[in-house]
Amino acid sequence: MHPADATRPGETTLDLPPPDDARLRFVGHLETPFATRADCPRQGDWDGPECRVVLKPDFRPGLDGIEAFEVVELLYWLHEARRDLLTQSPKSDGAVRGTFSLRSPLRPNPIGLSRVRLVARVDDGLVVRGLDCLNGTPLLDVKPDRCAYTVQVPPKR
Ligand code: SAM
Repeated sequence: MHPADATRPGETTLDLPPPDDARLRFVGHLETPFATRADCPRQGDWDGPECRVVLKPDFRPGLDGIEAFEVVELLYWLHEARRDLLTQSPKSDGAVRGTFSLRSPLRPNPIGLSRVRLVARVDDGLVVRGLDCLNGTPLLDVKPDRCAYTVQVPPKR
């Protein structure tokens, strides 16, 4: 277990069987300057360092059109997170709260979500600012910012 994952006073865990993972497909990975969890900011900063969103070659054409957006949403798999905490005591304040009331990486399905500033599209993916994850974190998805996105088809009734 990662030393930062030691259970704190007041925290509770679930006794879960090994995760039966949904068959997600990693579409790439994230390259950041953050080598350890302690190096990562708690949330990304749009004025933070440039990071790379590297897509596997087959998925790269899936970025066509993304250049039109200043902001994109990235979903990623916080692969080093423990997944059994039901209540947590964040180091920042010592109070105990439910996992689903926190943006902690420690959750049953450790999906991270960041809205990042798109700096450039490059051959293997994107350059962005605003990430908070470890170098090498697996990438699940890239979406245009929901605020800027206008659907191209009539709304469903
Ligand atoms: N922005 C995302 C969100 O709100 O869903 C993630 C926020 S989470 C608080 C960010 C923290 O997760 C970092 O400060 C670091 O401690 C931890 N972290 C980053 N990458 C991780 C990884 N690959 N596995 C486990 N923990 C990670």
